[in-house]
Amino acid sequence: LSQLFRPLDLLGMVYRTIRQGLIDMEAMYKLIDTETEVADAPGAPALQVAGGAVRFNAVRFGYDPEREILHGVSFAVPAGKTLAIVGPSGAGKSTIARILFRFYDIQGGTVSIDGHDISAVTQQSLRAAIGIVPQDMVLFNDTVGYNIGYGREGARQDEIEAAAKAASIHDFIMSLPQGYDTRVGERGLKLSGGEKQRVAIARTLLKDPPVLVLDEATSALDSRTETEIQTVLRDISRKRTTLVVAHRLSTVVDADEIIVLDAGRIVERGRHADLVRADGLYATMWARQATERDDMPEEPGIEDMF
Ligand code: ADP
Ligand code: MG
Repeated sequence: LSQLFRPLDLLGMVYRTIRQGLIDMEAMYKLIDTETEVADAPGAPALQVAGGAVRFNAVRFGYDPEREILHGVSFAVPAGKTLAIVGPSGAGKSTIARILFRFYDIQGGTVSIDGHDISAVTQQSLRAAIGIVPQDMVLFNDTVGYNIGYGREGARQDEIEAAAKAASIHDFIMSLPQGYDTRVGERGLKLSGGEKQRVAIARTLLKDPPVLVLDEATSALDSRTETEIQTVLRDISRKRTTLVVAHRLSTVVDADEIIVLDAGRIVERGRHADLVRADGLYATMWARQATERDDMPEEPGIEDMF
């Protein structure tokens, strides 16, 4: 990963000045790739978000046109509801998140928020409406306060601290040598996976977006941190439309809909209880996980069960 830090550092400086609303390193890389491909339509209006209902309709997409990754994916997440996406590694889960953020344009179908095609509105307004808590957050080489405040331009110190408190990271920050002015990132203090994720959550809380995308971490967190983060995430997703790439059982059990993605196709969908009753792939995963949980030192993720 170390060779990725240098360009990121440079990007951090560039993006600080030219664009708000981007969160993780991967996001920035994708933008570099696609800045020329994804363009605002001439005279595109800003996205007007009402409740933040998300709809994928027959979406076809491949990074390389020769190799299609999503083969006609359709789902609808009503405003304020939670969709969990589960499935094996490489199924296309993160790709769905990237498409919603419009890092790439799709080759077929439509993606809309509150009925507005996301390719017809400005990218800036689209990205302002969506908060992403990435699986592995990379911090800017700047202070921890900056890294949180990046969520919203002009955020006041008291707002930054309130967000940090809500993300259970304030006490940790206050224990650092220079508090919120402590430098973090490659050339500063290295934060643990759980600390970085809480910084990402604080940043997202500050941004206060109507649509939330969570790429849940699996093994990086100890169980106490995980429980804490889980509570915070459940809280912030309650009133927002949430798409979650789910590894944790509780997320899946509580979701309004679960889609099981396999090799770019939705192979099963429904609520947890329906899917267990349906006795298909999800039920198999679930049963296997229940028996393995006793033998494993840490609770395995759904994804690991395939
Ligand atoms: P998941 O999140 O379900 O593990 P991804 O959405 O990341 O899966 O990836 C789906 C497929 O797309 C995989 O086969 C992966 O190799 C491919 N892929 C992901 N990112 C890129 C990229 N930037 N360029 C080309 N192929 C990619
Ligand atoms: Mg992924």
